[in-house]
Amino acid sequence: MKDKAFCILLAWLVTGFGFSCNETQGQTKSRALIVDGQNNHQVWPKTTVMMKRYLEETGLFEVDVATTASKGTDANFHPDFSKYDVVVSNYNGAAWPEKTQESFVDFMNQGGGLVVVHAADNAFSNWKEYNQMIGLGGWGGRTEKSGPYVYYSEDGEVVRDTSEGRGGGHGRQHEFPVVTRNSDHPVTKGLPSEWMHAQDELYDKLRGPAQGMVVLATAYSDKGTGGSGRHEPMLMAIEFGKGRVFHSTLGHGDYSMECVGFITTFNRGCEWAATGKVTQPIPEDFPGPDKTSKRAKPEK
Ligand code: ZN
Repeated sequence: MKDKAFCILLAWLVTGFGFSCNETQGQTKSRALIVDGQNNHQVWPKTTVMMKRYLEETGLFEVDVATTASKGTDANFHPDFSKYDVVVSNYNGAAWPEKTQESFVDFMNQGGGLVVVHAADNAFSNWKEYNQMIGLGGWGGRTEKSGPYVYYSEDGEVVRDTSEGRGGGHGRQHEFPVVTRNSDHPVTKGLPSEWMHAQDELYDKLRGPAQGMVVLATAYSDKGTGGSGRHEPMLMAIEFGKGRVFHSTLGHGDYSMECVGFITTFNRGCEWAATGKVTQPIPEDFPGPDKTSKRAKPEK
């Protein structure tokens, strides 16, 4: 979507040379790349298929998938990020090759989009720029050196807590209400003030640089279910260079990703990260405050 006029001009100039501007029905689609291949969540091949289908169903995206080797740093993992408007990470594994890391930082600095889903925020605890991109992360040896804990107080104030301690945790899985904290942001504009999310892990005590980060939604992590007793960030938007990052901590299981709240915020987050705008309406089956709403898993 960058430089659309230039793209159209170029397409006109080089028609016949195989250049494609992804024009479909008169509208330019965004190009998304899902990266996966390693994850402590064994369901990752299925959740990649689900996310790919969700994006394609919007009619706004063409989606590719880049998969690393199943173990260790994959020396052959060199996606051409510059071909894409947004990269979706479903990856939590070994470091990428240094050149791949550099090209990804360049991509983001030049205005790329990134969407981080659930355990992707566990990845790369030693990669400085990645941690700046995701704002907050968990596990992987993260401590106070990684940055503050960020959460909401009972009074609705953002707390940046620099106390010592490890980053990342969750209690028992359950259904829980997600509270919209920012109704002005394109991703969350028009969402109900509270909606019931399907069974999921409620991440708590994430910590990181949290610079240029806006918390869009939180959930209360109840000590009764093994949580932190804090209002924890669930959805975030982060600026990195000229790039945009949407971070969803939701999505532990395929059953979590069937939630219409997950699907809607994911699709809108991807559109915003890719283009800076959101054109998708809130669907009629979006969950209310008391009851979850799910869609059946797409078939392969
Ligand atoms: Zn999980």
